[in-house]
Amino acid sequence: MGTFPLWFPMKNKLEGHYDVLGEIYSVEEVKQPELDGEHALGTCDSEKKEIEIKESESNDSKLETLIHELGHATIDESGLGEDMDAQVEHVIVTAFAKTMIRNFKIEPIKIQSRKSRD
Ligand SMILES: [Zn+2]
Repeated sequence: MGTFPLWFPMKNKLEGHYDVLGEIYSVEEVKQPELDGEHALGTCDSEKKEIEIKESESNDSKLETLIHELGHATIDESGLGEDMDAQVEHVIVTAFAKTMIRNFKIEPIKIQSRKSRD
C-alpha cells in the first residue's frame, strides 16, 4: 500500500499539458491567478503558452475555468484573437464553456510535453 493509482483524482489533476491547435500549453493550479492586477479564476498567456487555474475552487468550477481559458488559447492560436474585441471573446468562451460543462462529462487526458516527446 502507500501508492496511489495513476488516475487517483488529486486536487491537481487538471495540471499538465494540453494541445491547442498543435501548440502545447502548460496548465498550473495556483493560489490566486491575476490578470492585469485583478484576481481571476484563471488566466491564459498565449505568448508563454501558459494557463493558470485557481486551485481552491471546486473540481467542476476548475474544469469550467480550464475550458474557458483553453477557449481563449484556441481563439489566439486560430489567429482570430488579434482582431476580436477582448470582451466579445470573453463572452463567447464563457458561454461555450458553460454549454460544454452542462452537456458533456469531460475528463482531461494527459499529453506529453514537447520536451519529453523529443
Ligand atoms: Zn475570459
